[in-house]
Amino acid sequence: MISFFNTLSGKKEEFVPLRSGEVRMYTCGPTVYDFAHIGNLRAYIFEDLLRRVLEYNGLRVTQVMNLTDVDDKTIQGALREKIALDQFTEKYIRAFFEDLKLLRIEQAEFYPRATHHIPEMIALIQRLMASGHAYEKGGSVYYRISAFPSYGKLSKKNLEENIAGARIDSDEYEKEHWSDFALWKARRGDEPFWPSPFGEGRPGWHIECSAMSMKYLGESFDVHTGGEDNIFPHHENEIAQSEAATSKPFVRYWLHCKFLLVDGEKMSKSKGNFYTLNDLTAKGYSPLAVRYLLLSHHYRHPVNFTLQGLEDAACVLARLKDFRLRLNQYVPAQGSGGQASTLGASLEEAVSGFERGLCDDLNISGALGFFFTLVREVNKVMDQNTLSGEEKKTVSLFLEKVNKILDLWTGEEEDGREIPKPVHEWLRERQEARRAKNFKRSDELRNLIIEAGYVIEDTPKGARVKKKQK
Ligand code: AMP
Ligand code: ZN
Repeated sequence: MISFFNTLSGKKEEFVPLRSGEVRMYTCGPTVYDFAHIGNLRAYIFEDLLRRVLEYNGLRVTQVMNLTDVDDKTIQGALREKIALDQFTEKYIRAFFEDLKLLRIEQAEFYPRATHHIPEMIALIQRLMASGHAYEKGGSVYYRISAFPSYGKLSKKNLEENIAGARIDSDEYEKEHWSDFALWKARRGDEPFWPSPFGEGRPGWHIECSAMSMKYLGESFDVHTGGEDNIFPHHENEIAQSEAATSKPFVRYWLHCKFLLVDGEKMSKSKGNFYTLNDLTAKGYSPLAVRYLLLSHHYRHPVNFTLQGLEDAACVLARLKDFRLRLNQYVPAQGSGGQASTLGASLEEAVSGFERGLCDDLNISGALGFFFTLVREVNKVMDQNTLSGEEKKTVSLFLEKVNKILDLWTGEEEDGREIPKPVHEWLRERQEARRAKNFKRSDELRNLIIEAGYVIEDTPKGARVKKKQK
């Protein structure tokens, strides 16, 4: 059973997709007015984990991540640089995809841009006007919140509540009620604009996501995600727009990740307390250390970002690499081939604990706890040279499964590659020859290994071979 904490119900719920075997999910994407900081990337990594866990459980995922390429900030940026809006956003869109690639975030099926979906937004606004949920004033169109009685059901806010601090409409257009929000903004000054039945103008931010999600995923779909700051007003408004237009439930499960913090404060552009992925790789950190750092904390816990935390993540990666290398090269002692070591049931426990953790509201830290306990135990039995051939195979298969979620290494990594069988055999024979003090034979075997293009490393944990660097 998979369960998620649903912001809408305020509880953990069993996850049952609307169509069996298939999950349709919408993840709010970047506003492309600047480079993403790693706080933004935390949200995308959380969504990557969600997607991978669904796939791990045999579900087919259709994911849509929008690109907000028209809003106040993108428009201001383009005007400041005196270039066209699409020219301004292109650079940040490219950088965004580069970040996703470096962080090994699985690709969504669709990355719709807001500016390519203006007709769909206009059609949705017309539906809302027809049903009395929207009204036009001075060439702009507003959503009438009082016409949607369940407004506030996601954020648990009511209309009278003070919404200071939220990302609210900065434009000063005339509205019926202060909390009504703009669906369409009348053309102003040099701003880009599109023709519409309400006059020239541009869409509001919230309508973009309602129109694009329903276009690609249907009027009701399974999962909608974002960072916690998206809950209000953005997602609240998406629900109001979509459900008022269709009279159907919009989304079944709403999942939100907590913020990445710096010294207890949200990492954000406006506070200036941010790092981009580029900033960190320029300091010598690998993107995979950043991936691991962001992935390894439960998404509903805030994470305080520090460079020390990143160092620690890099150390975990190095230890994991060592472990894989050691396991790959481990040669079960002759005679103990089929016999089980002291690992016993811990292998099965680790696999089931790992899977249980993931399915329990993406409890990755719990899942990793089981995995690392097993790593320690396997290291111990390898020290004693009692890991059997069968166990080695099972542990390797488990590593592959874990990597379906973590995606921290590839089969082609030079030192992770299987060493050919004869080289293994020579290494084992060489160890026996050395133990028997037959140094002539041990030297012969060393030469055979070197001629085959490998080097021998004698470590406190025994000898191992590596492919010689050209
Ligand atoms: P934006 O580009 O501002 O629309 O944000 C893109 C995504 O990043 C949204 O899902 C935000 O909720 C999320 N986000 C922004 N800042 C943070 C942060 N410090 N920690 C986690 N997620 C964030
Ligand atoms: Zn959105």
